[in-house]
Amino acid sequence: MTGKIMPINNFMLATEPLSDAWARELIRDDVAVADSKFVVNYFRLSADNRLLWGGGENYRSRFPTDIKRFVRKPMLEVFPQLADVRIDYGWGGTLAITRNRMPHLQRLDANLFVAQGYSGHGVALATLGGKLMAEAIAGSAEKFDLFSAVPTPNFPGGTLLRWPGLVAGMLYYALKDRL
Ligand SMILES: Cc1cc2nc3c(=O)[nH]c(=O)nc-3n(C[C@H](O)[C@H](O)[C@H](O)COP(=O)(O)OP(=O)(O)OC[C@H]3O[C@@H](n4cnc5c(N)ncnc54)[C@H](O)[C@@H]3O)c2cc1C
Repeated sequence: MTGKIMPINNFMLATEPLSDAWARELIRDDVAVADSKFVVNYFRLSADNRLLWGGGENYRSRFPTDIKRFVRKPMLEVFPQLADVRIDYGWGGTLAITRNRMPHLQRLDANLFVAQGYSGHGVALATLGGKLMAEAIAGSAEKFDLFSAVPTPNFPGGTLLRWPGLVAGMLYYALKDRL
């Protein structure tokens, strides 16, 4: 099962509350925004007009010592006008990604199920995975089986080479973001 997922760390920050005018200047229609980079930037405004910004990843067992600074960098590439804005909060967590970014649902044995690898979309999908597992345990497995038929290929490299392979691959695609 471990070959199906790899861990990556992703980080977020929250600025100080901004004035209404400034907030609307950044995101006019108050929508959630994501770009199409491999190391995706995603952002929206909070109810109290903070800019919530997600961006930046690392592939180590440790988080950056200064998360606010780490995430501020990609934010300023998009919004340089925020250079003097205070960053109130920074945080992060570890996500399990699959190779094709589809969740991995599998029935291992009659009453043994696995659901993992939501690849950064776990708010909705982890809930769905749990629901489908519960339905399968209660005897109605059609939806679980449908999801588990979606192929989730193993990361290549076996136990020893999988990790360095992932890091090399991620760095390659992250570099392409910059070209
Ligand atoms: C930086 C970052 C950005 C993300 N962005 C997105 C996004 O934009 N969209 C998206 O869909 N997903 C996103 N995710 C993933 C998403 O947050 C998770 O997939 C989702 O929160 C998982 O929900 P959960 O309820 O399974 O687990 P969690 O939200 O982790 O909840 C588990 C809870 O159990 C508690 N707990 C753990 N152990 C114990 C224990 N022994 N006793 C009691 N309580 C315990 C924990 O404190 C926690 O409150 C992001 C994750 C990170 C880290």
